[in-house]
Amino acid sequence: MAARVIDGKGVAAKVRERVRREVAALATPPGLATILVGEDPASEIYVRMKREDSAEVGIESFHHEPGGDVSQEDLAALIEALNADERVHGILLQLPLPDHLDQDRLIALIDPAKDVDGLTPLNAGLLAQDRPEAIVPCTPSGVMELLREANVELEGARAVLVGRSILVGKPLAALLLAANATVTHCHSRTRDLGSVCREAEVLIAAAGRPDLITVDMVREGATVIDVGTNKVDGRLVGDVDFESVRERAGAITPVPGGVGPMTRAMLLVNTLAAARGRV
Ligand code: NAP
Repeated sequence: MAARVIDGKGVAAKVRERVRREVAALATPPGLATILVGEDPASEIYVRMKREDSAEVGIESFHHEPGGDVSQEDLAALIEALNADERVHGILLQLPLPDHLDQDRLIALIDPAKDVDGLTPLNAGLLAQDRPEAIVPCTPSGVMELLREANVELEGARAVLVGRSILVGKPLAALLLAANATVTHCHSRTRDLGSVCREAEVLIAAAGRPDLITVDMVREGATVIDVGTNKVDGRLVGDVDFESVRERAGAITPVPGGVGPMTRAMLLVNTLAAARGRV
């Protein structure tokens, strides 16, 4: 029997509606500053969507485009100014930055209380210590919200995660562990990826490799979450061979329409939480 398709769009719409109601009840609107450096077309689209999402739920946006040749010092000064600006509760530095800029040092300058991408060393450390005040990166928290909404039991479950980036894989592993899953973490050096994946009751692919996960790597009835976003012949596809895997999985997320909308929605959740002064 074909798998249940987990509707990320629908869950994200519910999350956005919840944020919209909560924002409306606040005395002053939360503010999200977006910084776009350079002219990467994908980054331009992402930032525009984030600003549109913000407007839709009543979050005020403050957009900055300092130009592709901005110096490290000037960008640092902009981040410091946004740290000090009381109207701004969240700061989003769109990545990747042009090569002449030191991305890690700039991220570390963001006030951790305004770090709505959850990328500063402080928030990463708080998450690693299971501290509730950590601001968690949007894609991993979006995956957890999807699993909750889809009623996937994580307690004691065998979860296999493919990908160990700072943005997705590592924080997601921490969240799965905190939910009492038994986590196996794979990467490009993992031997015999297929046999490791076949153990999974919950299989999460976040590698950025189209068709990495094929049906022979999936256990009957598993929940398969596809984080990957890859452009193939102008089409957006995930890391999972959706059509064949859905015949064996119990539940599966599509690409597009799975994790992507959740990532966008969780940025709004993080901005609202930052405005409430959670950290
Ligand atoms: P990344 O920084 O490139 O990390 C990719 C990870 O996958 C690395 O840990 C790498 O292993 C591992 N990997 C690569 N090829 C592999 C293979 N053949 N077998 C096993 N592991 C392999 O990417 P990322 O930023 O985490 O993003 C991952 C994917 O998710 C991308 O497609 C990205 O576009 C997508 N993404 C989607 C959303 C969304 O909202 N849907 C958000 C963020 C990212 P090593 O560490 O050994 O190199």
